[in-house]
Amino acid sequence: MNQMEHAKVKTLEVYEDKKLGYKAPSLQISVRSHVATTPDRIINQTEIGYLYSTKDHLPKFDYTHKQAVACQKLTPKKLRDIQDGNEFVDFKKSIRRVFNQTSDRIKIFAPKWRFYKKTLSPQQDLLIVGAGAFASADIVGLPIHKINATSDAIASRMGRIRENAERNSYNLTIAPSFNIRTTPRQLTKNIEAVYDAGFKIITIDNGGYQRGWFENYPRYLALSNLDLEGFYIIGTGVPRKWQENNITSQAHLLTLMGQHSLAIEVVESFQPNDEKRANVLERLLDEIFRLNANDLGYYPLKEHIRQNGNKIICNSDCPACRSNEGLLDIYRKSNKAGLNSVFNNVHDAFDSLWGMKDLKEGIIAGDLAERLKNRKALQKAVSSINSQTKLK
Ligand SMILES: [Zn+2]
Repeated sequence: MNQMEHAKVKTLEVYEDKKLGYKAPSLQISVRSHVATTPDRIINQTEIGYLYSTKDHLPKFDYTHKQAVACQKLTPKKLRDIQDGNEFVDFKKSIRRVFNQTSDRIKIFAPKWRFYKKTLSPQQDLLIVGAGAFASADIVGLPIHKINATSDAIASRMGRIRENAERNSYNLTIAPSFNIRTTPRQLTKNIEAVYDAGFKIITIDNGGYQRGWFENYPRYLALSNLDLEGFYIIGTGVPRKWQENNITSQAHLLTLMGQHSLAIEVVESFQPNDEKRANVLERLLDEIFRLNANDLGYYPLKEHIRQNGNKIICNSDCPACRSNEGLLDIYRKSNKAGLNSVFNNVHDAFDSLWGMKDLKEGIIAGDLAERLKNRKALQKAVSSINSQTKLK
């Protein structure tokens, strides 16, 4: 059944920390000549767009990430237009444009479908998969047709779409996509049903900023408890910061709770807007949250300066930070062009990848618990979640 599968997944290692109560695997996914190992950070279309928006302000660069995701927003109206009007070509082009802006890597198309109460028709399924195929996506995250459909119905519907894709000789893998709003029990059942039907890759839409951590928490526990060999979850729509302390990097936290490769929430394209506050420097220091990959936490620049002075803390070959004298140098420069949050997000993309690589090395070497002691913000979140779980 899986002879046609385009993307292949295998488990390399599983790390289990009985004391803190988490389990983290390192998986390998291979597609064409590309190989990625998890935990991994996926660049999204907003981040890919920065290659263009910074072109006059940063030396030419490309991302070192192995996976890219296009998360075009789908609405019922847009789907109708794609189906009945002339929007299909533009839709396909918009996906392709994302992939073309950066060099070749594992290409994922996972549309952002937040109208989870609506039902998708079989024809709409085919249009989504077809758009991904024509845009040469390697993996298409296809939203399940109905959030409260039975797991058997979901698995057989996905199976039919896969047969159709095979008949059309599409060179891609279909990954059933689940909304984090699915009830925990149903989420587990649905995932097990599609896994049994041969779908080894799924995507989870984490809901972006609309969904709070506490609402999602029972779902994350359900994902943590899945025990499926060679099974790979792509998480999209991840908020940067963990809501409970507003510091810990949520993408890194989720790699210890059942998801393997994470992409942060796609936001509207950036518009320079420094009008909001008269004192721009004040806004910079208070409102810009910068990733500190040593801690795997986000701190306002003001706090960064309090802890580290003007020292740049960046562990990667990040174009936003390199060849700057000090931290304020970076933000003064970008502030002049109205790009300070973009520079900040470029740093985020590179250094959060560094953080994922560190977790991966810890899983493979078997010293993850030791490494976590240095990643203070992540460690704090993991300990706190574990103590809550024990209280129940
Ligand atoms: Zn940096």
